[in-house]
Amino acid sequence: MAKSEKTSKDKRFEQMKKIRDEVVDLKRSPLYEFRTSEGNVPVIGEGSHFAKIMFIGEAPGKNEAATGRPFCGASGRILDELLASIKIPRSEVYITNIVKDRPPGNRDPLPEEIELYGPFLDRQINIIQPKIIATLGRHSMAYIFHKFDLGFELDVISKIHGKSFDVKTPFGQVKIVALFHPAVAVYDASKKDVLKEDFKILKDLI
Ligand code: URA
Repeated sequence: MAKSEKTSKDKRFEQMKKIRDEVVDLKRSPLYEFRTSEGNVPVIGEGSHFAKIMFIGEAPGKNEAATGRPFCGASGRILDELLASIKIPRSEVYITNIVKDRPPGNRDPLPEEIELYGPFLDRQINIIQPKIIATLGRHSMAYIFHKFDLGFELDVISKIHGKSFDVKTPFGQVKIVALFHPAVAVYDASKKDVLKEDFKILKDLI
């Protein structure tokens, strides 16, 4: 490995570790108390710090908060299947959520939680500098569309899923793709076909 490559690898690792340390210490989060009462741990993210595709879900569920790994439960199995369908190894992408702590009872993240954790996600995006950001679910879709001034393109997910939108960022052009949350396919097999079709676009874009 070339020296500059190693430096860049170490730098990204350090920057990501700093985010981890700050989130671990995020006592002002309304979700912090559930770490002790429910034995939850925060879920920062997983995968390559040089990933071309970054997946952004909503918040950890029970399995994720028990293990510290994103998408490792029922939704994760669907996500794994979808990645396998386009022959992209999970280790080559980066997977994270907007909210890094589990909301009680798996409820949707609240606006104030998204506001609190959003800046950590912003920093993760700047570290990884992905070519494609794929949002999983409507909350991450809304957050990312607003962040990249795509609010005027925002619509219900059933209308814009699987479409790609170009945005300019300080680290170059990025494609934003809104996808259904894999959880929709856990109980509705027809949605898995829709997701599979939408995942093909990711393969075409890289
Ligand atoms: N759902 C999410 O949005 N994120 C996870 O990590 C798991 C389930």
